[in-house]
Amino acid sequence: MYVRWDRKQEKERKMTQESTQASSSDRVRIPDGLYEGYIFDLDGTIYLGDELLPGAKRLILELRERGKKVVFLSNNPTKDPEMYSERLTRLGLPPPKEETVNTVVTMTQWLLHNHPHATVFPIAEEPLKNALQAAGVKMSEKPEDIDIVIASYDRGFEYRKLQIAFDAIWFHKRAILVTTNPDRYCPFPGGRGEPDAAAIVGAIEACTGMKCQVNVGKPDPIMLETIMDMVGLNASECIMTGDRLYTEIRMALDAGMPSAVVLTGETTTEMLAAESEENKPEYVLDRIDRLIPRKIWDELGWTEVEG
Ligand SMILES: [Mg+2]
Repeated sequence: MYVRWDRKQEKERKMTQESTQASSSDRVRIPDGLYEGYIFDLDGTIYLGDELLPGAKRLILELRERGKKVVFLSNNPTKDPEMYSERLTRLGLPPPKEETVNTVVTMTQWLLHNHPHATVFPIAEEPLKNALQAAGVKMSEKPEDIDIVIASYDRGFEYRKLQIAFDAIWFHKRAILVTTNPDRYCPFPGGRGEPDAAAIVGAIEACTGMKCQVNVGKPDPIMLETIMDMVGLNASECIMTGDRLYTEIRMALDAGMPSAVVLTGETTTEMLAAESEENKPEYVLDRIDRLIPRKIWDELGWTEVEG
């Protein structure tokens, strides 16, 4: 809480200084130093569809060169972290395995830290079940043994699973309900999508009357706290960069971590200008490689045409 307050005061001070150029500060506001840890959203931030966004490759390579911790984030629990590594590799950016963290990783870590002896019932696809098994988490489909029901993005969801969750929560009155991610649907290119974890949470909440108690995906700061634990850095040593104010930026603000919105995805300058100051990030980037301060751009001889 103290961290939030200090940040707010700091931001108000900066705002007063910059009040004459408020509209330009919604366009570009660039960090003037480097951080120790860089956490990135993927879609709309590092890549869009099947292409890396301008400057993404040289930025990541430069950060690695300088020994910075780089982590990519995703809410999607239907993929192994390795699957993201393969995708980035195909796009021309090979990442070491530990750099990708999705809700399979955060759910496993959260359980190990907070409920190491619990028996869980994951309504989930193979990647999460495999990770839980590998971590030694007890799993059961017997309602009388279940302590935690995990509602996840599960394209094999069926009435049988709903009945097990219902019996564990409502009949035996022993299980709590948690979720991997709060997304209502997963968007696809071309405007279609698939029902996501919120649909499973909704079904269980509707029949049991129990509210979901924990979410380990964006925008809950649990996700960033898990990552800080993994990389051994504090919030103030890291920067979160993403294209959505209500997920990545919200999460960073709540975790007391500096953040940057990049205008290559969902958020536009107009959307940012319409937002209240307390929901805005410190930095606004027209392209992702602006995370490298101007002085270093000049030293490296970078121009806006990526080499
Ligand atoms: Mg995004």
